[in-house]
Amino acid sequence: MVITVAVPVPFLDLLAYELPESWAVPARGARVLVPVGTRVTTGIVVGSSTGTDDGRVLKPIADVLDDGPFLPGAVVDLALWTAEYYASGPGETVAGAMPPGAWMKSERQVRITDAGARAAVALGTARSRLLAALRHGRAVPVRSLVTALRRRAEGLNALVNALAREGLVEVSQPLRGRADASKTIRVASITAAGLDSADLRLGARQRDALASLAGAPEGIDVPVLTARGIDAVTLNRLAGRGLVSIARRRVERGVLGAQGAQGAQGAQGAQGAIVLSADQAKVLDSLKALADAGRFHCALLHGVTGSGKTEIYVRLAEHVVAAGKRVLMLVPEIALTPAVAARFARAFGERVAIQHSGLSDGERYDQWIRIRDGATDVVVGTRSAVFAPIDRLGLVIVDEEHDSSYKQEETPRYHGRDVAVMRSRQTGALAVLGSATPSMESYQNALAGRYERLTLVSRVLDRPLPTVRIVDMRQEYADEGPGVILSRALADALRDRVSRREQAVLLLNRRGYATAVFCRQCAATVECPNCSVSLTVHLAAGRARCHYCNYSMALPKQCPRCAGPYVERLGFGTERLEAEVAGLVAGVRVARLDRDTVRRRGAIVSLLDRFAAGEIDVLVGTQMVAKGHDFPRVTLVGVISADVGLGLADFRASERTFQLLTQVAGRAGRGDSPGEAIIQTLYPDHYSIRHACHQDYRAFFEEEIKYRTAMRYPPAVSLVNVVVRGSSFRGALEAATDLARRVRTPAAGFRLLGPAPAPFVRLRGEHRSQFFLKGSARGPMRHAVLEALRSKPDLKRRVTIDVDPVSVL
Ligand code: ADP
Ligand code: ZN
Repeated sequence: MVITVAVPVPFLDLLAYELPESWAVPARGARVLVPVGTRVTTGIVVGSSTGTDDGRVLKPIADVLDDGPFLPGAVVDLALWTAEYYASGPGETVAGAMPPGAWMKSERQVRITDAGARAAVALGTARSRLLAALRHGRAVPVRSLVTALRRRAEGLNALVNALAREGLVEVSQPLRGRADASKTIRVASITAAGLDSADLRLGARQRDALASLAGAPEGIDVPVLTARGIDAVTLNRLAGRGLVSIARRRVERGVLGAQGAQGAQGAQGAQGAIVLSADQAKVLDSLKALADAGRFHCALLHGVTGSGKTEIYVRLAEHVVAAGKRVLMLVPEIALTPAVAARFARAFGERVAIQHSGLSDGERYDQWIRIRDGATDVVVGTRSAVFAPIDRLGLVIVDEEHDSSYKQEETPRYHGRDVAVMRSRQTGALAVLGSATPSMESYQNALAGRYERLTLVSRVLDRPLPTVRIVDMRQEYADEGPGVILSRALADALRDRVSRREQAVLLLNRRGYATAVFCRQCAATVECPNCSVSLTVHLAAGRARCHYCNYSMALPKQCPRCAGPYVERLGFGTERLEAEVAGLVAGVRVARLDRDTVRRRGAIVSLLDRFAAGEIDVLVGTQMVAKGHDFPRVTLVGVISADVGLGLADFRASERTFQLLTQVAGRAGRGDSPGEAIIQTLYPDHYSIRHACHQDYRAFFEEEIKYRTAMRYPPAVSLVNVVVRGSSFRGALEAATDLARRVRTPAAGFRLLGPAPAPFVRLRGEHRSQFFLKGSARGPMRHAVLEALRSKPDLKRRVTIDVDPVSVL
């Protein structure tokens, strides 16, 4: 019997193993331990067949960890589809569908033998150094010796093998990790002998313990006993005498406590008090009908900001759950959409599970097991939750479907929204994609009739959309000088809101204090040594930092190139903006939300909680402030430099700008007072800014689709981006040219553009060159690239294939 296994090793295909005679055939989705190279690792069974006909001798499976499927078969299917579609390794992709802590790995360890300790070995040789390093007699991981002895892994492994053959060392492969990563707790209960122990000689503490346990026949958790002053030593003594038995019980690490606390934020209006508007009710009815159809449909819910989409999702989910099915709700980033998670938690209580990277590994594992075992009806999660082990799936919702965080920017480079649609298709469920600013792809699909299009054109309770004012910064610079950050209009509006005790949100999509360090003497800017970008000034930290590789250096006092003393800071970021606002109004409470201020886990949530509680007047931040929040007291939104993203060499630059501006403006006026947005820009006539100003999605779409069609960009065509990296630019370009030549086949049905230097020609110390394939079908393009790579296998590790890329920088 041959078992096909997916192992979590990059660049590896599915592997085949022999099932030892007389072993039961493991289920598809079960975990097995298999040898890979010199290690033993966990893999997932994806198939089995009887014998190979090519007569290869296969290694046997080392162990089977699960009786049934650990990963449901449907999820294995979805992961394999994802691997194929995105041209990534099946093992890595299946691994991405697994919960943390479900893997076990062996580690090659080496220990000196008695013979080795006595052996006379010539000094100064590699063998003597290795034996000397093991002299202490303990087993150590071979990996750790690589650094200690400064040898390459292969060489060291060969040396260890040679010494093992001579009997001087011995090698072992202990496993790390546990087959069951559940948290367990010790539970003590009294035995029959314990109940009958009145005549025995026992200490006072032991008597106390027995008295407590006698009243609880099902046992008491050891931590509870500890809290009552009954310690582990006492319990162990009693257990040793057979008066108490101690067992382990699995416990769940709860996560809803934290989410529930966030619930306060979105909870204006008592639960259930909301009456749907006529528009909401109509949309809900249509969606219910689609859900009831019991086969795959995809609906695009295009509803302006504040139109009450979340309320529709929750009621639709209730409808689906009432019919005995289960629901998956994807959000771009749970920490940024707490109101959504909390709203679901309020409706479904214990029956909702949360899956996102902000949870600890243990919490994620427990939630995953609950989902798989059917203890939940609804899963709310970020991108990777699309692989959650849900059976009887009836509904998949993708909230803010346009958000680029759904795209994973590392292998496997899948798009969570698109995998969600495929999952619905595979299971015959309803997919609902919701947004105020749908992606070009989804809107195009809706117009073409592939998706049902549902719209909500107005906000709930007839609240007006925010009025938007554009400030032409060219005029502002002419009048007020080139150093202006806050225009007069925005500064006035801010003072006004602060005095009225209303709140404001300011968006500047650039972190740090200044964007560059510049020398007035030689005109050099200080660049990252690893990346082709200039370093950003972080004043509070006193560092100049690269935003791509995190390299940093102390802020230079003189020019690193000419040693001149005239170093200046150019441009500004959120850190500077925060200082500017603080200086504008005395006593204003300003806080900043960007990746620098929320590095700590839970920091985002506590910052947003403080803003919701009115402890902050002005929230300054990057695009993080634009995402999905519902803060009713925000009446002013300011955009500092609306054009930040427009200059990027990315065909989605206009779309991103339009989305960001529309979304951030949508944060204003969500309560009883109407909202206003003020947008500062150098390009007031740019169509993405003009249409965002009128919140006119359709007009933007019409104009953008013309550009995409003329330039042959998605969604007019499909795109595959191939990036080739190298230690020199020439090397990268030559390899890309070679690969491109192999890809270019006549009559292939696609076009190849490039190779050319990537916009970020150096990143993290590597030089980058790229080419694009454009065509109407992805299959032939993917196939051509993979075939070309098969003829140049040594390039595999230097090439990134991105199917349907979101960022092409
Ligand atoms: P969207 O996701 O479309 O931007 P939300 O779902 O966040 O909008 O809704 C905005 C606010 O309006 C929320 O506070 C929500 O509780 C409230 N809301 C939704 N529907 C109604 C309704 N029919 N009547 C009153 N308030 C509503
Ligand atoms: Zn860098």
